[in-house]
Amino acid sequence: MITNLESDLHQDERLAKLFKSVESSPVMIMITDSAGTIEKVNRKLCKVTGYRPAELVGSSMTVLGKIDDRTLQEMRRKLEAGAEWTGKLCSMKKCGEEFWEEVSIFPIQDHEGLTTHHVKVAEDITLRKNTEEAIRFLAFYDNLTNLPNRRLFIDRLKFCINRNRREQELLAVISLDLDNFKKINNALGHSLGDRVLKIVSERFSDCLRSSDTVAHYSGDSFIIMLSKVAHADHVATVAEKLLRSLQEPIGLTGQEIHITASAGIALFPEDGDDAAILLKNATLAIQRAKMSGGNCYHYFDPAMHEAAVKRISMESNLRRGLRQQEFLLHYQPQFDCRSGRLSGLEALVRWRDPAMGVVRPAEFIPLSEETGFILPLTEWVLRSACRQRKEWELLGLPPVRIAVNLSPRQFLQKNLTQLIAGILEDARLSPSLLEVEITENALAEDVLAARKILGTLRQMGVSIAIDDFGTGYSSLSQLKSFPITTLKIDQSFIRTLNDETSSAAIVCAVIAMSHEMGIKVIAEGVENAEQEQFLKEQECDNAQGFLYGEPVDADEITKLFI
Ligand code: C2E
Ligand code: MG
Ligand code: MG
Repeated sequence: MITNLESDLHQDERLAKLFKSVESSPVMIMITDSAGTIEKVNRKLCKVTGYRPAELVGSSMTVLGKIDDRTLQEMRRKLEAGAEWTGKLCSMKKCGEEFWEEVSIFPIQDHEGLTTHHVKVAEDITLRKNTEEAIRFLAFYDNLTNLPNRRLFIDRLKFCINRNRREQELLAVISLDLDNFKKINNALGHSLGDRVLKIVSERFSDCLRSSDTVAHYSGDSFIIMLSKVAHADHVATVAEKLLRSLQEPIGLTGQEIHITASAGIALFPEDGDDAAILLKNATLAIQRAKMSGGNCYHYFDPAMHEAAVKRISMESNLRRGLRQQEFLLHYQPQFDCRSGRLSGLEALVRWRDPAMGVVRPAEFIPLSEETGFILPLTEWVLRSACRQRKEWELLGLPPVRIAVNLSPRQFLQKNLTQLIAGILEDARLSPSLLEVEITENALAEDVLAARKILGTLRQMGVSIAIDDFGTGYSSLSQLKSFPITTLKIDQSFIRTLNDETSSAAIVCAVIAMSHEMGIKVIAEGVENAEQEQFLKEQECDNAQGFLYGEPVDADEITKLFI
């Protein structure tokens, strides 16, 4: 008895000593009895938690927050075995605010090996934890929409593919692109455009279950994983729901914005066995939906894959073709409606593929635009056309312009004007003999940049024609603000001139309004005398079409006009 009392005293002394040494420690210290009742706390702990010592002493250590059952069990097991427990706890200050602490708890035993007390040493790691979380968020979430980003999405997709493979369950990837978002973004400005994306992401999220993932993939594209799919048809229901969620217009600063999307669906395991293939195939399926006019969804099918493979081989063939001089230009003459004299020549590119023979631009221009091949190709076309025009000048061709088609993509390239200036100089061709043709949609992409480029070209003396006029989104009044010299009325109006009164009315109006604005008009695709007669009556300036001549090679032009 006496010895016990002595040893208790001894133990208390030991604790008092221990505590004194840690009283002013920069870390938080708490001493509890073996049942967890607080006996002592140091200054730092009070400072962090906002409690006074008297408020804590005598209470259970759980006053700083409950510990979940699993952690508690593990803690007990360690401490009862006489070992130290370490871990992170989320605790609570007196004011109710949470904080994170990194904790070590040691058992203090008496001389008989019985645990009489616990010492908890803790450090406030809230700042570190928050920083870690912010970094994690930046790395895995999209700043704008707060949705998972591409990286996290792919991680989750891989995880679910592995799980579903084991459990033999279906999974679906739905890829979604907003239709015409670029145009909306340009019209509204980027900050409103961003708000639209946020609202869209919320609407998509609302269509899904918590086990599904929606990610903001890039710009205007989203990607969704349905992690467990009972039946392929179910995916269509979700896709419809997603598209329907955009039906209600988005209200922003008093205006109503109407937006639609196109979706592509790829299923695991049917359409691909790994994440990369599923993503690629869902994107291929989207293109099909876009081709059907947007606002719809499309399932992937293997034919799309074959088409994609064909495109890839075509792309490398095109690049080879440029190196091996397989491209050539044909020229189609344009005529003055009044005098009947030659008024211009349009350069039209052809590709003589060794395997396929002569390929029309419609078959390779869209692909070239997508892959960027259009840039070196247009440079080649410009160079060849200018060189050829110079040659004809030396041979005595009257001073008519040579027209070159520019793709919208080429058009917004930064150094386009320098490129053209350089090419004209190299060919020693007067800028007044060059006309560039662009479509109206190329102007709509980025109005300010377009205006600047056209302004520079006009200053240089290059003429500017709007190709396929009437098929795009702009109106004549919108074109007013661009320094345009020529308007080419699209073939579709000329073709239907004699059968559709609306075409005739449009052609008349376009001619009259253009003339008022000092713009010349050329009719494309004139094939018969009736059309020619009508155009003459309306005082159309120029005409081009099979009635006068198909596109032919340079030698033929030399024979015909020199
Ligand atoms: P576009 O610039 O509107 O060219 C006129 C197209 O209509 C040419 O087809 C021409 O052969 C055809 N055409 C001319 N007269 C008639 C006619 O009376 N009836 C009919 N049915 N068609 C006629 P092509 O050469 O196949 O070119 C198609 C399109 O490819 C061009 O349309 C242009 O957008 C594009 N393209 C052609 N060459 C180039 C180029 O060098 N660069 C770029 N970016 N695009 C080009
Ligand atoms: Mg053209
Ligand atoms: Mg045209």
